[in-house]
Amino acid sequence: MTGGHSNPLFERVCLIGIGLIGSSLGRAIKRHGLARKVVGCARRAETRQAALDLGVCDTVHADPAEAAAGSDLVVLCTPLSGYPEIAERISGSLRRESILSDVGSVKQAVIRDVGPFVPDHVHFIPGHPIAGTEKSGPEAGFAELFEDRWAILTPPPGTDSHAVERLSALWRGVGAMVEIMDARHHDRVLAMTSHLPHLIAYTIVSTAADLETGERQEVVKFSAGGFRDFTRIAASDPVMWRDIFLNNRDAVLEVLQRFNEDITALQRAIRWGEGEVLEDRFRHTRELRRGVIEAHQAGSFDPREPEKAQTAAPVQDKTDPPES
Ligand code: NAP
Repeated sequence: MTGGHSNPLFERVCLIGIGLIGSSLGRAIKRHGLARKVVGCARRAETRQAALDLGVCDTVHADPAEAAAGSDLVVLCTPLSGYPEIAERISGSLRRESILSDVGSVKQAVIRDVGPFVPDHVHFIPGHPIAGTEKSGPEAGFAELFEDRWAILTPPPGTDSHAVERLSALWRGVGAMVEIMDARHHDRVLAMTSHLPHLIAYTIVSTAADLETGERQEVVKFSAGGFRDFTRIAASDPVMWRDIFLNNRDAVLEVLQRFNEDITALQRAIRWGEGEVLEDRFRHTRELRRGVIEAHQAGSFDPREPEKAQTAAPVQDKTDPPES
């Protein structure tokens, strides 16, 4: 423990998955002295070794059940598709009165996939920090990632309020602001603020990738004209984003339908030379941008890439900045 608190919030925090989010959480927990011990779990030996070398965890395990055993907080930090198997494997080793949480970018699917494996004596509180970058792996993490970002918790009805408060204190301890909401509401909001923007970025960049060679080279050369930010978002992890779209299907399809209607309206305005329609719409969106800035959610801050801090990218999640 580096924070030096004599009474940390947790005795043993287990992070299953020690990539961008897991390793950032591990670093932040250690920096702020929020746990006596941080234990990590990953499938590959090189991931586990990197987490040890970087000081993200005190010990590492390949077996999630071994990692989870004896922990008073277990946080799933892998892509969503890994959850059902991990939940099944750790189910029998979860400590009485411990908290089981996660950082996944979709919440109803987590309740569906993990909920059935949670023993009655464990507090299950799904969570999602609205913070991230397009990078992956333990090296990509940093302790400041969650500062001034939202951490959303979606405890199922009837969850013990003391456990929710304890987990909230952890997120506040790493610098985040906590909001409690219903999982369905979370998924609808995130479909709009994060999932749709990523889908658009992936689409624009793949449209460019399909251009003829000459044109494609020009796109890369002059990418600063707006395209560059889309390429950054579209560089986000393919497995993580595949899982997000497959697990938030209904909410994403709903916002996509609305988006299609709106883009068709703009297409029509361009075709018919309806300048006032375009101008009116763009004024309206400018106001929304002002609201984002006033809410201090305008830029991601990766201390190793300060030039990125004020990038006016479309709303980001790798989920946001561009984070998930
Ligand atoms: P990441 O950098 O790719 O890290 C994933 C980690 O999980 C790696 O350490 C990986 O190591 C490990 N892992 C994968 N499958 C595993 C399994 N079955 N058992 C144990 N370990 C496993 O991913 P990330 O960006 O941190 O994202 C993790 C979660 O956070 C996702 O659910 C995502 O939705 C959510 N999230 C992401 C962001 C973002 O911007 N990135 C933001 C908010 C929330 P091995 O390959 O060695 O196993």
